[in-house]
Amino acid sequence: MSKKIISIVISAYNEEGNVAELYKELIVNTKQNKNLGAKYQFEYVFVNDGSSDNTLKKIKQLQKQDKDVKIVNLKRNFGHEIAMTAGMDHALGDAVIFMDADLQHPPVYIPQMIDFWANGAEIVLSRRLDNLGTGCIYKFFSTMFYKILNWLSDTKIPSKSPDFRLLDRRYVDFLKGFNEHDRLFRGLLSWIMPTDRVKTIDFVAPKRFSGNSKYGVFKSCALAMDSIIQFSVRPLRLATYLGLLGAFISIVLGAYVIIEYYIIQHRTPGYATIMVTMSFLGSVILLALGIIGEYIGKIHMEVKKRPLYMADYIVASTKNDVFKSQRDKK
Ligand code: UDP
Ligand code: MG
Repeated sequence: MSKKIISIVISAYNEEGNVAELYKELIVNTKQNKNLGAKYQFEYVFVNDGSSDNTLKKIKQLQKQDKDVKIVNLKRNFGHEIAMTAGMDHALGDAVIFMDADLQHPPVYIPQMIDFWANGAEIVLSRRLDNLGTGCIYKFFSTMFYKILNWLSDTKIPSKSPDFRLLDRRYVDFLKGFNEHDRLFRGLLSWIMPTDRVKTIDFVAPKRFSGNSKYGVFKSCALAMDSIIQFSVRPLRLATYLGLLGAFISIVLGAYVIIEYYIIQHRTPGYATIMVTMSFLGSVILLALGIIGEYIGKIHMEVKKRPLYMADYIVASTKNDVFKSQRDKK
């Protein structure tokens, strides 16, 4: 009987200082592990997400020494979520493990993940007890973001569940059916999360081995906004409520002005109330328009149904090293 295949998908964007060390730790915890090596065949799918440094060169060097290294080379930087999608599309395994390239997802937990899977789990998630790579301000805003997201959305996404996970082929194939451009993997996964056959491993994320995080303040904020829009239409309802609140306040203000004029017989200069009312209404209208605009923008981008990415699939055995990918996803 042929061995089951386990794919390990690693998305890398400007990770030249990390990929070799990651590979070293990976093989120790997979094919060089006696039990695992005997039972399973491994493939290491490195997705180069349009890096501008020597990441691709370093991965190609790894492939020269190990034919189990496969490369999905995205033609430009498409972002982490699309990079993971591209890796998933090209992974052949019966189980697929996703992880970052910076060693913040320690390969030492992989045997445990595989063990859970071998014993019937179809999804093995990770729970990050702490992230030694981030400060308390980042952690505070991250927790707040998940609170707001889960308050606004029907799809509940756990806050400390990073993209370090194992999925059985059944779930990989199912996830491939999601064609949306704007995607948050952990959200899509929450959407299909079964109530059984799910296991979780706890871990503490160390600091990244080399280089800096690719998610600065602005990128994190944009991701937060996009995620809320992807999983909820409640901000639109919130805009309606704000409109109702504005109308209510205007009525109360109007009544007050009438009472002031006819009963108290006192006239406050008009411009003050007009200015306050106008700026209040103006900001409510702009806010509502902004929210609607965000959704229209997303519709605009999605209806074009552009392919998600363009990539070369590079495997060691080909003569010229490059297979034109048949899976440039629609
Ligand atoms: N990454 C990617 N494309 C991007 C940005 C990041 O493939 O456009 C990869 C990156 O190389 C890393 C993972 O996504 O392997 C997580 O990125 P990072 O470590 O910068 O995020 P953080 O851990 O700080 O949230
Ligand atoms: Mg990281």
